Amino acid sequence: MEYSMIRKNFEKHGFSTQLFSSREEARDYLVNTLQRQTIGFGGSATLMEMGLFEALQQNNAVVWHNKVPSRDVRRLANCADIYITSANAVTESGEIVNIDATGNRVAMTAFGPETCYYVVGKNKITANLSDAIYRCRNVAAPKNAKRMNAKTPCAKNADKCYDCNSPERICRITTVIDRAPMGMKCEIIFIDQELGF
Ligand code: SF4
Repeated sequence: MEYSMIRKNFEKHGFSTQLFSSREEARDYLVNTLQRQTIGFGGSATLMEMGLFEALQQNNAVVWHNKVPSRDVRRLANCADIYITSANAVTESGEIVNIDATGNRVAMTAFGPETCYYVVGKNKITANLSDAIYRCRNVAAPKNAKRMNAKTPCAKNADKCYDCNSPERICRITTVIDRAPMGMKCEIIFIDQELGF
């Protein structure tokens, strides 16, 4: 589906949207938009690959547990008025699907910040909700488990989900954001490149 139609579907669901052809353009847009703010980041390979933390830190206070892994940092990030994350999958019809282990990220996408930005590479776009959930479990989660060296059956080859009961299972909370939550501004920043998992 063309980006114009995907954007229209998200906009009908209460999200504003942007489209950039490269991660650099998207990063510049956020750097120009966000100044003198406190910004929380969700765990994300996409944000890491963009160098967004380093870029935004120049003019903002950015809190990210990927840099300082701790419960306190997660809690601090969850007090920010601006939150930036990616998504494990989005649908062409305008929904966002995420899987979390601790829940700090999905909590902020449901309630908390005044504004939530989602940075979404083209590899995250799926045809429908069942494909999105499949992608989260069988593509994004195994790759994230491998990145985190989790002791889970999926981490070795990052090939598929084994629906494990490992103590280190990273798939514990699945959320579907159907519409922008009431009272929260949400913006989807599409990037026409493969980014993150
Ligand atoms: S449920 Fe377990 S095996 Fe499946 S993707 Fe999550 S961590 Fe990996």
